[in-house]
Amino acid sequence: MSQQHTTHALPSYLNPDDVGPWGIYLEQVERVTPYLGHLAKWVETLKRPKRVLVVDVPVELDDGTIAHFEGYRVQHNVSRGPGKGGVRYHQDVTLSEVMALAAWMSVKAAAVDLPFGGAKGGIRIDPRNYSTAELERITRRYTSEIGIIIGPHKDIPAPDVNTNAQTMAWMMDTYSMNNGTTATGVVTGKPISLGGSLGRVEATGRGVYVVGCAAARDNGLDIEGARVCVQGFGNVGGTAARLFYEAGAKVIAVQDHTGTIHNANGLDVLRLLKHVEETGGVAGAPESEPLKADEFWGLETDILIPAALEGQINVKNADQIRARIIIEGANGPTTPEADDILTSKGTLIVPDVLANAGGVTVSYFEWVQDFSSFFWTEDEINERLERMMHRAYASVAGVAAQHKVSLRTAAFIAACSRILQAREVRGLYP
Ligand code: NAD
Repeated sequence: MSQQHTTHALPSYLNPDDVGPWGIYLEQVERVTPYLGHLAKWVETLKRPKRVLVVDVPVELDDGTIAHFEGYRVQHNVSRGPGKGGVRYHQDVTLSEVMALAAWMSVKAAAVDLPFGGAKGGIRIDPRNYSTAELERITRRYTSEIGIIIGPHKDIPAPDVNTNAQTMAWMMDTYSMNNGTTATGVVTGKPISLGGSLGRVEATGRGVYVVGCAAARDNGLDIEGARVCVQGFGNVGGTAARLFYEAGAKVIAVQDHTGTIHNANGLDVLRLLKHVEETGGVAGAPESEPLKADEFWGLETDILIPAALEGQINVKNADQIRARIIIEGANGPTTPEADDILTSKGTLIVPDVLANAGGVTVSYFEWVQDFSSFFWTEDEINERLERMMHRAYASVAGVAAQHKVSLRTAAFIAACSRILQAREVRGLYP
């Protein structure tokens, strides 16, 4: 006898009053469902993470006291391959955020057609308040705690906000020690001396630049002399700004956690990178005037690159934005409401799942190189990255033209279809 089963989109472990970024992701899936054809019957798969692990990370601090941190590792979907996604250290990290970031990784890997699923991790911590030795102990304990679900064929972490190659080296060493092996393929974004890939550090920013140039070309915008504003001047924003600057664009404003700077004639990005290295932020950079944080969003510009945190472009500032093209370096920087406002104004948005996929693409190269123990030159890596980013951009632009939808909806159509096709042919176990 058939029974009526009710499915709830929200897992019970998430506070319904505080769905945060996961709510944004769910809305994006809702929007794409009408385009999924017969695969829509599997769409609930995308609305719940496969596996959620919340861990306690107890550590002895340098002064002898014991501190406890909350850590997460979420595997959203592994239908097309092992989980893949970064680890974020930030005081505001929440389960909802990690779940959304994991889901966007599933979509991103599928949008670029990499053989990965999506995962993400994080620790609720402000790493600036801890010594290097404390961060090493925190990272090692966290890695041990999530060690039961990660592995070169299961789930492969990488750097994200406030984590870097050193963090990955500690993670790789901890996992290797716990498993009696040297498992270079358990993380990507490692130091070159540990099986890291040339070009990985710059890969996300380079991908932002490559798809940004493709979108500009398709929209009759010449990069030479184009005005660029960048929010976030770290790994992604700093690299993207430098590549646009070297191609002749004018980077007229940059905002980071220390402030906002502006120069209508264009900033010297190489000097700015040096200033940030020396002082920790863009505030007080030479040959620039400070702006209030809100003024950043109202600047008239050709290209706007959000490359900091999610939800930065929202109903409060979307109306003010006067950019022709937005290239999303950050994950989830635009809320769905802001997306609608900007799209109705004719702003072209190159979505995160496409624009910042350069990092996971070179992570894929790193993982492949680790398994074959054969390493490619930086030129080979950059060429392959460019080729894959161009191919992904062209395929998403093709879907957008075919269905007359935005690039974001098109990227979700292409990616969700691939994930759900894999889901369907694998079938449900048991
Ligand atoms: P990062 O830590 O190197 O840099 C983060 C930057 O954001 C810093 O310049 C910081 O000052 C700035 N920032 C932080 N809070 C801010 C605020 N409230 N207002 C303005 N600026 C602020 O991190 P990253 O690796 O460059 O990552 C940036 C974004 O790109 C994140 O959303 C991340 O998930 C995404 N991303 C990173 C990668 C990668 O390979 N690193 C890949 C894909 C996506």
